[in-house]
Order: sequence, then structure tokens, then C-alpha cells
Amino acid sequence: MTTEAELLGFLKSERDRQVDFLQRFARIDTANPPGDTRQAADFFRAFLDKEGIAHRTEAPKANNPNIIASFEGGRGPGRHLVLNGHLDVFPVGDRATWQRDPWSGDISDGRLHGRGTVDMKCGTTALLFAFAYLHRLRADLSGRVTLTVVSDEETGGKWGTAWLLEKCAKDVTGDCVLNSEPSGLATVRFGEKCMLWLRFTIAVKGGHSAYPHTGGSANKVAAALIQDLLAIEKMAPDEPATVRATLDRPEVRAAAELSLGAGAADVTRRVSVNIGTIQGGVKINMLPPDCVLEVDFRLPVGISRAAVLGRVAEIARRHPGTRFEELLPGGPEANVSDPTHEMMGHLLRRAGALLDAPPQPIVSLGGTDTRFWRTRGVPAFVYGCSPAGMGGVDESVSLAEFHHVMKVHALAAWDFLAGG
Ligand SMILES: [Zn+2]
Repeated sequence: MTTEAELLGFLKSERDRQVDFLQRFARIDTANPPGDTRQAADFFRAFLDKEGIAHRTEAPKANNPNIIASFEGGRGPGRHLVLNGHLDVFPVGDRATWQRDPWSGDISDGRLHGRGTVDMKCGTTALLFAFAYLHRLRADLSGRVTLTVVSDEETGGKWGTAWLLEKCAKDVTGDCVLNSEPSGLATVRFGEKCMLWLRFTIAVKGGHSAYPHTGGSANKVAAALIQDLLAIEKMAPDEPATVRATLDRPEVRAAAELSLGAGAADVTRRVSVNIGTIQGGVKINMLPPDCVLEVDFRLPVGISRAAVLGRVAEIARRHPGTRFEELLPGGPEANVSDPTHEMMGHLLRRAGALLDAPPQPIVSLGGTDTRFWRTRGVPAFVYGCSPAGMGGVDESVSLAEFHHVMKVHALAAWDFLAGG
């Protein structure tokens, strides 16, 4: 038997074990906040122990352990592939609105229920099993495979992936990263927009509304300011050539719209400006002396934070009494990997062979931990189950998608490390 056939054999013959693991994982409360993932980490470590795979734990905060497991292939040195998933999940919210216990792990009609099953207990479990199967077949692989299972993704990653890449860089940086956050089977994500949050404060003299000539209105300034800020949506991104060529393709545009909603093909490639809050004015017959706006800019690949901040500063200067500050300063840039990278080819081909139509490479609207690798120049790709219901009430994941995602990652990793 060829080892690829053995890999397929493990994927198929252990389906019950895979589902059992996911079910038990779904029953462990890892809601973040508070984000205590110790029990889930124990559960993962017990699995690795059983598989005879070495691992270690890095816990900058005792309740948020991160696991690193790694092995060398038997065919000598080669590339280092990193698999990345997270243990923590969104909080439950209002428990009364759930039909089932959010930690039930119930299986019904081919779906496994529970908070975080979509984001991303399905994906993290898929990568754990793919990793274990590759380990069993390591004699036929070259290079190295590392699994990182982190405990802080939902609150920004500071104590999870960001910490590991800072403190354990040589162990977890790698040459390529696979992540299985929910992407939907129709798309493989190779980049992400980023967010830039600004607060504008407008302060003018104000006064009596019957005497507009005696003092300005901060709300009136805000109205004009907003129009200028919205014009930032027209900034043209400077996309790398392969990114532009990929995102221009009609089938890629169609997949983006299918996956992210009508209009998404354009939204992924331009700045979006959301005037999230406006607070100004005291009373109907007073000229408002101040107004505060909070604005959420989402930046596409090819437009830097600095470029937008420069434009904003220019605009703010034109409006009297206006100043602004960055909320969450130092955030990430929009980030992207080469959509023609070899790993993308493996993912598209392996998934395409199992689906009616191959997935398409797109840029994501939301963020994942892959940004931490991309910003270090390491190519990173996301392929996972449907994001539908993610973080919502009665979250549940399709078991067929769970098996599919595991298989695609295992085979793409195989292609990357066994080299055909
Ligand atoms: Zn996630």
C-alpha cells in the first residue's frame, strides 16, 4: 500500500473516533472571556500522548495554555509546515435563547451542536487528526511539521499566536501555515483586510441657535467631515500583481460574493468607512459645542494604515476644531500571501477533487491568527467549514464538512512534505 493510501485509510477508518473527539471537545466550556482553556488543553495533550507525539506547553497566563507539538520527517531536512488552530470560542451570550445546552455536543441530522463548533473546534480538531496521521507516516515525509493550538484568539491573540511567534519564533515560524478557521468550502483565504479605528472630537464655540452667526455648530462640522471621510473609500489600492490578477478573475469574484454576500467582491478590495457612533449636541435650540464620532475603517490589501492616517490628517485640518486619535494603535496591516503559492495549488486541487467545483482563492473580511505569520512573510492559508452560524445562537457544524476539511488539510500537507 502506498503511504498516501494509508493516509486515506486513517481518515476514513477513524471517522467515529474523530467525531467522538469533536463531541467531547464541544462539551468543554472554553468561552473567552473568561477563556479558561485548561481542560481543553488537557484533552488535546492526552490525545497527543496516546499518539506518542512529543509536545510542550507555553502558558504566559496559567489559564490559557498554548500547545506546541512537532516532529521531523524521516526523509531528511526540508520545509517546515505549521498547523494552527485555537481552543477558545466566543461567549454563549443569552443562554435562554439557545434551544440546546450550548455545551451539549448533541449530534442531530449530521450536525454537531455547541458554542464554538464552527469557530473553530471543528477546524482545530481537523488539524489535530491530520497532524497525528502525518506523524504516523512521517518516515515518508521530509522537513518538519508543527501543530500550534492556542488559547487566545477571540480576544486578539496577544497571549496565543502573537506570544508564540515572539517567544518561540524558531519553533513556530515555519515556511508555510495551514489554518482551518471557517472559510466555507467554496473559498480558500490567502489574505485579510485590517481595521483602523479612529475617534474624532470636534469642539467649537456653540451658542444659541437663533444666533448662528455668533458661534459654530460641531454637528455641522461633523456632517461635512463625514462626507470627506467617506471619500476615502475611493482610494485605489496598490495590490501585488498576482493578487490583482487573482481577484480580477470572474470565478473568484463569484466565489467571494457567494461566500461573503453580494457586493463583497468589491468591498474586499477597497476601504470601507463606517461612522459607528455620533454624539453631539445638548438641546434642539442650542448650537452644539462639541461632537464625537467613532469611525471604523477597514483597509484592503495594498492600502497602508499610514496612507489612510495621512489622508485623515489632511481632511481633519480642513475642518475647524477637529482633532482625532487612533483607538487600538499599532494594529496589523491588511496582509496577504501569494495566491499562486504552491500550497494554494495543493488546497485547491485536493478540495476540488472532492467537490463539484474547486474552491477559489479570496481575501477575507475578518481577521484570523494567520495575519501574525503573513506579517512575518510566512505564507498562510485558511480553509475550513461554512462560517454560517458562527458565534450565533444554536451554533452547529456539519460533520460532512468536518471530515472534508480534515481530509483536504491532511492531503495538502502530504503533498507539500512528501513532494509527490
Ligand atoms: Zn476563530
